[in-house]
Amino acid sequence: MDFPLAPGSTIGILGGGQLGRMLALAAARLGFDVAILDPEADCPAARVAKTAIAAAYDDPEALKTLAEASDVVTFEFENVPAEAVERLLALGAEVAPNARALAIAQDRIDEKTFLNGAGCPTVAFAAADDLGALEAAIASLGAPCLIKTRREGYDGKGQTWVEHAAEAGAAWARVGRKPVIVEAPAAFRRELSVIAARGRSGEIALYPLGENHHEDGILRRTHAPAEVTDRTRDQAEQIAARILAGLDYVGVLAVELFELGDGQLLVNEIAPRVHNSGHWTLDGCEVDQFEQQIRAVAGWPLGPAEPLARTEMINLIGDDMEQWPELIAEPGARVWFYGKREARPGRKMGHVNRLRPLKG
Ligand code: AMP
Repeated sequence: MDFPLAPGSTIGILGGGQLGRMLALAAARLGFDVAILDPEADCPAARVAKTAIAAAYDDPEALKTLAEASDVVTFEFENVPAEAVERLLALGAEVAPNARALAIAQDRIDEKTFLNGAGCPTVAFAAADDLGALEAAIASLGAPCLIKTRREGYDGKGQTWVEHAAEAGAAWARVGRKPVIVEAPAAFRRELSVIAARGRSGEIALYPLGENHHEDGILRRTHAPAEVTDRTRDQAEQIAARILAGLDYVGVLAVELFELGDGQLLVNEIAPRVHNSGHWTLDGCEVDQFEQQIRAVAGWPLGPAEPLARTEMINLIGDDMEQWPELIAEPGARVWFYGKREARPGRKMGHVNRLRPLKG
C-alpha cells in the first residue's frame, strides 16, 4: 500500500458505535470513503458510511469483504478479537494501530508489564489465575486492593474492591472466577488523560491534558486543558512519547493517568483508539482526535494538536438526551448526538462541548 492514501481511498473501521461514527465523519471531510463492520446493521457509524457490513467481528466472509473494500483498516474499540486482525493481515490488509498494541491493551497484566518496561510508572500489581494465587497476591500487596478481570473490563465493570484478606473468596466469585489483576490502591487526587498520536513516519502530536470526572464508573465530564504544573505536564508528555515509541504505534491512543498528591503521575490504562476523554478536541483544538486518527492511519502528516479554547465536555448519558431541545438552543453549546435509537440507562447518547477563551 502506498502512503499517503489519496482522497477517494477507503478507510475500514471495525466497530460502528459513536467513535466509529465520528471517525467516519472526519474521514468524509478529508475525502475518504468509509466501510464499517459491526454486528448491528443500524449502528451509529453505518448511517454515515458508504459501506456497512453487518456481521460478527470474526465472520470470515465479512472480514474478506472489509479487507477488499479498504485501503487501511482501523478500529474503534480495543476488544476486537485478535483472530479478526490476524485474518485481515493474512488477507493482505493494512491494519493500524498494529496487532501488538491491540493485544497489549486487551490484557491488564501485559499492559502494566509493558508500561513498566517502557519506563512508565503504575500501581504495584500481581496476576492471579485461581483463588490460591489471589490469596497470595492479596497477602503480598496488602488490603485494601482492587481486583479487575485481566480482560474485557470497561467503565468499571468486572472490578471489585477487597477490604480484608478474608474476602478473597467472595471477591473471586464477584469477578466471575476469571483470571484477574490485583492492584494496590492509587491515592490519586485527580484523574487526567492525555490523547496522543503517532504518524507513519514516527512523528508525534500530543494534546493538552484533560481532567476527567466519573460517575458510576462512567466518564461524565472532561475539562481541558487541565491546570497542571510544568513538571506534571512534562511527565505526561514523556509517558505518552514512551508508549507510542514502545508500541511502534500508528494512530491515536489515550493514556489514562492518576495524579498523586505530589503531582507525580501513574498510568492507569491505555486505550489504543480515539477516546471519550478526547471528545473536547472536536471543538477545542485545531485538529481533533478523529481527524488525527484518520491522518495517522492514512499516512498523512499529523495536524496541530494545539488548544483553541478551554473546553468542558459533558457526556449525555441515558435520559440526559431529553435535554436536546434546550441544548440546541443554548448559544455556544456545541452538540454531538450519536443517533442512537434508544436511550438506555448508562448508554452514551451524545456529548456537548462548552468553550471559554484560553486566557482570562
Ligand atoms: P479502569 O477500568 O481501570 O479504568 O478503572 C475504573 C476506575 O476505577 C478508574 O477510573 C479509577 O477511578 C478507579 N481505579 C482503577 N484502578 C484503581 C486503583 N489501582 N486505585 C484506585 N482507584 C482505581
